[in-house]
Amino acid sequence: MKLSNVSLFKRKCFINGQWQNAVSGLKIQVINPATQENLGTVPNMGALETQQAIQAAERALPKWRNMTAQERARKLLAWHKLILDHQEDLAQIMTAEQGKPLFEARGEIAFAASYLEWFAEEGKRIYGDVIPTNQKGRRLIVTKESIGVCAAITPWNFPSAMITRKAAPALAAGCTLIIKPASQTPFSALALVALAEEAGIPAGVINVVTGKASEIGTELSSNPSVRKLSFTGSTPIGIQLMRQCADTMKKVTMELGGNAPFIVFDDANIDSAIEGALIAKYRNAGQTCVCANRFYVQEGIYDQFVEKFTKRIAELNVGNGLDNNTDVGPMIDEKAVLNIESLIDEALSHGAKVRVGGKRHSLGGAFFEPTLLSDVKAEMRIAREEIFGPVAPVFKFKTEEDVVLAANDTEFGLACYIYSRDVGRIWNVYEALEYGMVGVNVGVVATEVAPFGGIKSSGLGREGSKYGIEDYIEIKYMCLGL
Ligand code: NAP
Repeated sequence: MKLSNVSLFKRKCFINGQWQNAVSGLKIQVINPATQENLGTVPNMGALETQQAIQAAERALPKWRNMTAQERARKLLAWHKLILDHQEDLAQIMTAEQGKPLFEARGEIAFAASYLEWFAEEGKRIYGDVIPTNQKGRRLIVTKESIGVCAAITPWNFPSAMITRKAAPALAAGCTLIIKPASQTPFSALALVALAEEAGIPAGVINVVTGKASEIGTELSSNPSVRKLSFTGSTPIGIQLMRQCADTMKKVTMELGGNAPFIVFDDANIDSAIEGALIAKYRNAGQTCVCANRFYVQEGIYDQFVEKFTKRIAELNVGNGLDNNTDVGPMIDEKAVLNIESLIDEALSHGAKVRVGGKRHSLGGAFFEPTLLSDVKAEMRIAREEIFGPVAPVFKFKTEEDVVLAANDTEFGLACYIYSRDVGRIWNVYEALEYGMVGVNVGVVATEVAPFGGIKSSGLGREGSKYGIEDYIEIKYMCLGL
């Protein structure tokens, strides 16, 4: 890591405007997945420090909530500017702890900043209503208020963007926040919050607690002072947290796992589909919730697609994300590699074929070869589970009806992709697919201006866009008798 501002590399948590260690003094180590080196430690906090953070957020709430939306927007825009001013340092920290190539990390920092700009503006447009009365002598008015103290639990695959996607609407709406980042990538979260402090966001408005996930999560989801929990992570933990939130009737937003189909019809532009497939599959070494998980290619172009896609995959450079020519970095850890190996082994034992890759990379550690498997069948585990790695299973299909049935045959419903040049087919398939997001002739769908989120076991609620702020707002109604 080459940082021009080393003070961004924080090793303490941020509670009530103070940089703190765990009361116990315990720490957790953070490992660079490319080199397996110890990058440093962060506090191993638990319920006690989480309670302190919740109390700080409660104390900070009245003043922050009573500021005008413009005043809050100015702070968020100052934070946005500081993030972009420190884009390179933030990207270096992210690549060191997460592994993604630097160009992707720089892109994520810009993406993370974009939520602050977007919601700084949206915060000014939280309009109420005046409802035409149904009774003489009465006036009906709807106002909107910030929901209060909120909690955010975030994953390691997008260590910065998953934080601002929650923090920006929360703060813009007048809420205060406690963030629990993933244990593999806490330094990105702490660096972001150091910049929030520099931007003048008052003490207690934003707090970060690192450490024991289940203790911190239990406190955040059961403490009655927390009115909303936004979680991005795996479906089983999301379900558990939702259960824990039920007793105190919290609002929840759940951004969970996916199993995205990527459908290529005979009439598609094959070269463009391959470029889209590369980015939809191998970005972040296949570790994104919207990664293409199942490739369905129509029989007329199947052989041509597999041949060309295999050739392009073989050209991808695997390496340390800090090297400029790296296209695909390491997996996050050994557990992730073991999971991919077991999915591939099971598929091969049932007749799938490796066209390229298929094993650990010669670099060793958590590096895995970008892989393509053909002759994959719907019953195989690799077709049913979220792969979360650089492995593309390819299926052959005959008709539009067949592929829609296969694509929807999953508990998940986050993102999916279609490649076709037939407008009628695009509309029919778009309407038949049970997913929250559909990319048509594109391999990336996420942007701060559009609603991100899924249905079925992929979650509840939407982040980004004009909808993303709604979960941080309560509706209040006045029935005024004259
Ligand atoms: P994860 O294991 O569910 O962890 C996510 C976060 O939850 C981490 O901060 C983790 O903390 C915390 N956590 C773990 N156990 C907890 C508990 N019992 N109570 C409270 N918090 C707990 O998921 P992951 O492996 O980091 O992330 C990958 C998953 O996230 C994939 O399924 C992916 O699809 C999904 N994802 C979804 C979206 C979306 O927008 N839909 C975006 C990105 C990722 P520790 O790190 O300390 O364990």
